[in-house]
Formats: sequence, C-alpha cells, structure tokens
Amino acid sequence: MTYRIFTHFKLTTFTWILSGLMVLATAVIFAGSVFIEKNIVVINKAWVLYQTDLSEKARLEGALRAAIGYGGMIHDFKNFVLRNDEKYKEDAESHLGAAVAILEQYKALELTTPEIVAIEDILSVFSAYKKAIHKSWDMIEKGNSIIEIDQAVKVNDEPAIRGLKVLRDEVVFRKNNNYQLSKSRILADLRAAMGYGGMIHKFKNLILRHNDLQHDEGQDISLVNEITAKIHSAKDSISQYRQLTLRGAEALALSDIESVLENYLNNINEIHQLMALHKSVMNIDDLVKVDDTLSLRGLMLLEQEINRQVSIYSNNVSNALEEVNQAIIFGKWGGVMTIFIVMLIAIVLIRFYVIQPIHNLTKNMVRLADNRLDTEISGILEKNEIGQMARTVMVFKKNMIKQQGSEQALIKANEKMELRLAENKELRERSEEQTTKALLMSEYMVEAQRASEKAMLRAEKDELFVSSILNAVRDAIITINIKGIIESFNPGAEDIFGYKAYEVIGKNISILMPEPYKSEHDSYLEQFAEGKSHRDQSNSLEQLALRKNGETFPVEVTLNTVHIADEIKVTGVLRDITERKKWEEKINQLAMTDPLTGLANRNQYEQRLSEAVQLVKRNKIQFALLIIDLDKFKPVNDKYGHAVGDILLQKVAEILLESSREVDTVARLGGDEFAIIINGINEPQEVSIVAERILKKLSSPIVIENNKIQIGASMGISCCPADTAEIDSLMRMADEVLYLSKQEGRHTYRYYSQIQK
Ligand code: GH3
Ligand code: MG
Repeated sequence: MTYRIFTHFKLTTFTWILSGLMVLATAVIFAGSVFIEKNIVVINKAWVLYQTDLSEKARLEGALRAAIGYGGMIHDFKNFVLRNDEKYKEDAESHLGAAVAILEQYKALELTTPEIVAIEDILSVFSAYKKAIHKSWDMIEKGNSIIEIDQAVKVNDEPAIRGLKVLRDEVVFRKNNNYQLSKSRILADLRAAMGYGGMIHKFKNLILRHNDLQHDEGQDISLVNEITAKIHSAKDSISQYRQLTLRGAEALALSDIESVLENYLNNINEIHQLMALHKSVMNIDDLVKVDDTLSLRGLMLLEQEINRQVSIYSNNVSNALEEVNQAIIFGKWGGVMTIFIVMLIAIVLIRFYVIQPIHNLTKNMVRLADNRLDTEISGILEKNEIGQMARTVMVFKKNMIKQQGSEQALIKANEKMELRLAENKELRERSEEQTTKALLMSEYMVEAQRASEKAMLRAEKDELFVSSILNAVRDAIITINIKGIIESFNPGAEDIFGYKAYEVIGKNISILMPEPYKSEHDSYLEQFAEGKSHRDQSNSLEQLALRKNGETFPVEVTLNTVHIADEIKVTGVLRDITERKKWEEKINQLAMTDPLTGLANRNQYEQRLSEAVQLVKRNKIQFALLIIDLDKFKPVNDKYGHAVGDILLQKVAEILLESSREVDTVARLGGDEFAIIINGINEPQEVSIVAERILKKLSSPIVIENNKIQIGASMGISCCPADTAEIDSLMRMADEVLYLSKQEGRHTYRYYSQIQK
C-alpha cells in the first residue's frame, strides 16, 4: 500500500514535511521575484540611457547642429560667398530648410518658456540667413566683390548661438548633473565646436573678412584665437569620446576628425601670413582649402555608430522585458503548481496516513462498544500517534475482557445474595411486627419527652428568674442540703462572707459560723434530719457569722425548708446587721446615758436601781443610794457662763467616777444633781468612805479656763434593804436627807437612818 511508506512517520514529522514544502514554494516565488527585480534594473538602466540619448529633444538638437553647422548651412553659405558657386547656394538653402523643419518639429514638443524664446530667436536668425543667401546671389549676379557681399549680408548670429545653448542646457540640465556624458551628447558638443558659431563658421569669416580682429558686441575679438579655442574644444570632445568604450570604426572616425581639425589649425597661421601678403580673399580661400570629406564621413560614422548602440539598448530592453514576462509566467505557474502539489501531497498524506487509520480505528472502537471482543485492533504496530491510539484501544479491549469476567462473577454473587435477601425478608417481616409495637411505645415516649421538655423549659425560665433575683439581692442566700453541704451561694453571699461561690459550694455550712454556733448547728441539723427539731422557722433569728478573713459579725437569718423529690433543702437568707446593731447600740446609749457627762441618765439609773433591788431580794445583799447636789452651782453659771458650768459638771462627773467602784452606778439625775448606787455593801457606813472621798476631792478648787472655781456638794444616803426595799421610798429618803445636808450647812452628807434615830 502506498501509505505504508509513511507508517513510521509521526504526525509531527508529517507537519515538518508540509512546512518544508511550503518553504520551498515560498522560495520558488521569492527566486522568481528576485529574477524579475534583476531584470527590471537592467530595463531601468537601458531606459535611462535611451531617455538621455534618444529623447526627442536631444535627437532634434543633434540634427539641428548637423544641418546648420560644419558641413551644413553655415559651411555652405560661407563657401557660397567665398566661391560664388551655385551648388553651395542650393546646399545652404536645403540645409536651412531642413533646419527650419527640425525647429518646427521641436515646437511640437512640450517646451519650457526659455526653449520657446530660444526657438523663435533661432528661427529669426534663420530667416535672416535666407534673405542673406538671396542677397548674396543678387550681388554675385551684379558682380560685387566677395568682401562687399560679405559685408552686405552679415548676419547677427548671436541670438541663434544663444538659443542653441539654451536648447542644449534645457536638455542636459534636466537630467542628473553627475551623469557621464553619452556618446551622442559628446558628438553634439563636437558638432557645436566645429559648426555654426564654431570653428568652421569663424574660419570662413576670417577668410571673408580678411582681418583677424573683429568688432563684436562692443569689443575687439581675435578670430584666430577664437578658432584655435573652438578647435581645442572640439579636440576635448574627441578625447572625452575616447574615454568611453570605442569600437574600431569609432576610433578611426575620431582620428579622421582630429586630423582635419589639425589641418584647420595649421591653416590659420597660413591665412594670417597670406593676409599679411595682401593676397585676395579668393586666393586665400583657395590656398587654405581643407578637405572636409574625412571629418564629415567621420561624424556621420559616429552618428551611425551611436544609433547602432541605441538600437542595442533598445534590444536589451526588449530582451529584459521578454525575460521578465517569462519569469512572471513561470513564477505564477510555478507558485500555483508548487502550492497545488503541496496541497495534493497534504491531502493524499492526510487521507492515507491520518483519516484511513482513524477510520479503521473508529470501526474497531464501534465494534468493541458493541461488545464484540473478538475485534482485531488495526495499526497497533505503527509508531506514530495513531499507533499510540490503537495501542490504547487495545488496552481498553483487554480491560473490557477482564471486566466481562468480573461481571460474570458478580452475577453469581448476586444470585447468592438474592437467596440471602429472601431469608432476610422473612426475618424482616417478623421484626417489623415488633417494630410496630416499639413505634407505638416510642410515640408515648416522645409525648412524655415533649411534656418533660416543656416542664424543663418552664423550670429553666423559673430558674433564670430566680437566679436573676438571687443575683440582684444584697442579702446572702445560701442553700444547703440536709447534711449541711452548701449547694448554692449567691453574689450577695460572696459580698458578705468574702468567699467566692466555688470556694464554699460542696463544703459544710459550719465554715461560715464561729463557735459555739458551729457545733450547735451540726447537732441541730442532725435533730432536724431526724424530725426532732421544734424550732420555729417562720421567725428570723439573729446570730454571729464568720467571714473568710476570720472576722465575726451579726446576721439576721431567715430559714426556709423545701422538699424537692426525696431531698430536703434548707435555704437561708442572711442579712449582715452589723450596721444596724451599731445604731441600736448608739440609740440605747442615747436612751440610757447623760449626753453631757456620759454618766448613766435617769432611765438607766432607775433600771439599775430596780436591778439592784431585785438582786438584793434574791441574794440578800445590801446596797446604798447616794444622792449628790452641788452647792451654789447657779452662781458659777452666772459668773462664768453656762459653758463653764457644763465643763464643771463634767469634771464633777469624773471625780464621782474616780471616787466609786466599777460595780457601782454613777448617774446624773438632772441639773447639778447626781446619784451613786453603791452595790454590795456590808454595812451602811462603808458609804461614808465614798462620800468623804468626794467631799475631799471637791474641796480643792477646780481650774477651768484659768478660773479657779471652788465648789462643794451636799449628799443624802439611803440604804436597801436596811431603810427600805421600795425604789420610790429609797429615792425619796435619800432626797430628804440631801435637803437636810443643805439645811445643815452644805458640803456634808447625811444618812436617812440618822433621822430616825
Ligand atoms: P443650792 O446650793 O441650794 O443647791 O443652790 P444652787 O445654786 O446649787 O441652785 P440649785 O441647786 O437650786 O439649782 C441648780 C441650778 O443649776 C439651776 C440651774 O441654773 C443650774 N443648772 C441646771 N441644769 C444645768 C446644766 O445642765 N448646766 C448648767 N451650767 N447649769 C445647770
Ligand atoms: Mg445645787
């Protein structure tokens, strides 16, 4: 098979081949274009030369110079005047006619303004020559001399010469200034140097005018010098021409022209000598006649040679164009063919190398998909990507075979499974019955759970409510169980006891109690647990509590017992009453003491008195009541002022306290009246010691604000139960004897017992 050649190619190699072919096609097109370009350069060069040399203007200018110059109109005209030969007249006229015709052709071209002016100038000179020829003829007929004729028919050549220069410059300067002069151009220069206004023109004038020096445009010029200059200029042109590539005929023609020029150069001097010898014009002309045949032939030959070369350029152009044309055809078809071949090869390769194998492989894959595992996989030996695909399909095939094996095993396993399932089904049916029962039960349970959840939610709410209250109150709220273990401890409790809840929860409540409450409490709880407690819980009680820092403080406790399930919880609300106690004490004090002296007031005095009477009744002991009234206190007030009187009362109080024992009660009964309950006396006379001590102390003056105040006191003494066991009587008796003391001279004391005696 054809495509077998490519079986070892990889698709990438194939891509490379296609790319190579594309590069080849591109190269062919590129080579074609290079070739065309090269030929266009040739054409361009040839065209430039053609333009320069054979442009209409250059050609017409050359023709014009030939017609009027050396061997042309001016040459013939001068010879006609010199030699009076009608042949020259005809030649001159025919050349002139040709020159005019050339200028008419020139006019037909597209001209610049200077060119138009130049042509008009030249034509005007030509018409002057036409007339000059006629006039010369007339004068010859009349027998006028050559010099006469020459003088009469003199034509001003200057406009024509200038015009010719303009035409030449217009042609030359429109081209590139640097270009090398072509042969035709040099030939034109050579004709200009030799012809009209050039060598031959001036040479003939020298003979005709018979004088070297001529007056022209207001200055004297030497014709000899001018002719010499023109000849040199012509020779320069010849040497310029020689620098170009010459053919044999051209070299020969140039030599001929040069030799004729040489002849002219030689003859100039001869003319000069002949003129000096006063030889006639005709004579001189005859003697210095130069044969122009060689140079005229030479010029013609050069012209022919130039035309021949131009025709060679033209041929080159034609050939180049032909080649370019062929190259284009070749390039076009070559390119098309190359691309066509490349595409053809690509299609063939793709068809046989890619599509066919893939097609085969696809067929195989379809068969495999149909589960036809006997399918032969084609192309597995190929080493390219399709080979790889084929090998992969092969792996698939093997896997499918394996899979089929395992599927069969699976079917067997399934059969066994189904048997088991049937067994299971029976079991399941049985178990479903039980499940139905269980479901019913679970429904009950769900109901129960819902109810309990609701209860819990309520409880949680309650708890939240309770805990918010517990957190808010400033009292300590403590819950304990029946064993005295603390179960809750609110922030109020934390503040009061100085413990954090976590420090005390789980511990016994007794840690918050000082002795003896601590031990008492333990035993109380035991009794409480056994149902033996008879304590009334409705009232709050006061007791001492113990802070974390060891400080004891009074609390008011309210207890509440709750039965939760089978447990008993005791909640205690404890209020710190330290402050309250302090106030109570203060109020008590205010109620029981005399604010000025700090001694017991009348209230306390009466209370103590009644206690002492009670004590006397129980214990059969004695006590005495000593009533004291200061002597002449009023005058102290009057003399020193009420404030000093107050201080004096305080000093007296001190003296009374100093004079009595701790067990005794010293009281101020009002104004300057004091009382001392002297407890536990064995006999009434013991009171005298106290009374004497007081009198003695009051005998010394008391100093207040630098004032020595002398004061005294009168006292009355009654004894219990010796005098009476009635309080009122006791007080009255003491008062009575006090007044007795006053009456009997003051600053003394009296016993009630004394009056009765
Ligand atoms: P006598 O010797 O008879 O007892 O006469 P006296 O000047 O002491 O006067 P009397 O005992 O009759 O009266 C007590 C006076 O004490 C009357 C009152 O002006 C004065 N007094 C009463 N209470 C106070 C007090 O609280 N402060 C002061 N500075 N004087 C008081
Ligand atoms: Mg008094």
